[in-house]
Amino acid sequence: MKITFLGAAGCVTGSKTLLQFGKTKLLIDCGLFQGFKHLRELNWAPPEFAPRSLSAVVLTHAHIDHSGYVPVMTSRGFKGDVYCTPGTEALCRILWPDAAHLQEEDARYANAKGTSRHAPALPLFDARDAQKALTRLRDVAPGKSFVVGSGLDKVTCTFIPNGHLLGSAMVLVEAGGARLVFSGDVGRPGDLMMRGPEKLPECDYLFLESTYGNRLHSNTDVAEELAMVISETALAKGAVLMPTFAVGRAQALLHLIMELKAQHQIPDIPVFLDSPMAREATEAYVKFSREHRLTKAQLRAITEGTHIIGNQAESMNLAKLRGPHIILSASGMATGGRVLHHLARMAPNAKNTILFAGYQAGGTRGAKLLAGEAWVRIHGEDVPVKARVEQIDGLSSHADWQEMCAWLKASKVSAPQQVFVNHGDPEAADAMRLHLKDTLGWDASVPMMGQRIDIS
Ligand SMILES: [Zn+2]
Repeated sequence: MKITFLGAAGCVTGSKTLLQFGKTKLLIDCGLFQGFKHLRELNWAPPEFAPRSLSAVVLTHAHIDHSGYVPVMTSRGFKGDVYCTPGTEALCRILWPDAAHLQEEDARYANAKGTSRHAPALPLFDARDAQKALTRLRDVAPGKSFVVGSGLDKVTCTFIPNGHLLGSAMVLVEAGGARLVFSGDVGRPGDLMMRGPEKLPECDYLFLESTYGNRLHSNTDVAEELAMVISETALAKGAVLMPTFAVGRAQALLHLIMELKAQHQIPDIPVFLDSPMAREATEAYVKFSREHRLTKAQLRAITEGTHIIGNQAESMNLAKLRGPHIILSASGMATGGRVLHHLARMAPNAKNTILFAGYQAGGTRGAKLLAGEAWVRIHGEDVPVKARVEQIDGLSSHADWQEMCAWLKASKVSAPQQVFVNHGDPEAADAMRLHLKDTLGWDASVPMMGQRIDIS
């Protein structure tokens, strides 16, 4: 069996691991590279194999850095099935058309401004590609096995919930007597929304993410921190802008805000959700209410307590708001979407707060703002940053290295023959490798992008 690391090796985006077993060719995750330009440019490189030759794609979850390359693959001739859980399918139906829209917008913008080296600039994929890709989705419930390939080249896969996002799961792959587990992004035991990851099954080879391989989440009380930032901003007669990931994070933030309001820990100021995608994702969380921790009453508090913004005109109208309020808008790293209009408008006012509630990849506007840059470039204009810029860390849906080691330990499995640490910046991945050795005595290695290994 051959494994090739085609993404999320030496970085946290572009997750793609190719597994070849005889004639069966499986891609575990099929994500877009995000963040730095040199990484994003990799999305445009020709695939390392003919998309037509691929038997199937298996998705651990819907986040674009794990699923967003599927429309590119289908537009280039991939005709196989894309396996995922029902929750992941629901979220891909929301995320892919939006990603296509962002690609189209970027191309339109580049053409209007003449900022691209290519004339005309084309989107990486468009709405039609996204729709075509969606027809390939095949949902399989967690715990139920499915088979790709046949005869001696048969590969059996099973999803096992890993608590990172609605529908997220690790994948157990069984082929030729070997058991491999691809962890996907691993969630946290005390996550606000998701239940903790299920036990790691016994396996010979483990492919483990390491986003937080060299970091620990702070012990601070997220609700308390959020209450403080909102209350202080409201007291200063300012508004709070939360660039948020539309799927998962927006719902967690809304849940926290509604709880804080109910407990009178923040003033009862209006809350606006300005992201069509976040609205649809909220509906998915309501539909799949059995798969997460929120009760029906808590979900109702979110949907009834939030002003949900519809079209672009309504979004623009938010500029007329006076007095303290909260706007949640995507994207979470302020790389695109409606949040940019709000950011351009709100960043120059010292009374306002820009509150990030998630990991900000290097090179994104979010990372630059958090680094304290005095100007931010939005739609070709330099905007001064006078607003307070804050970040709350505790909402991450990635296990930190201690939580990861505790989860592995509690799984009570024997040491895998080999552990491959991927999905982390180089320092994070290497730190995770050392933690695995120190904590569990497991030998691990950190594969490089493009590296191919043979497993007998
Ligand atoms: Zn993820």
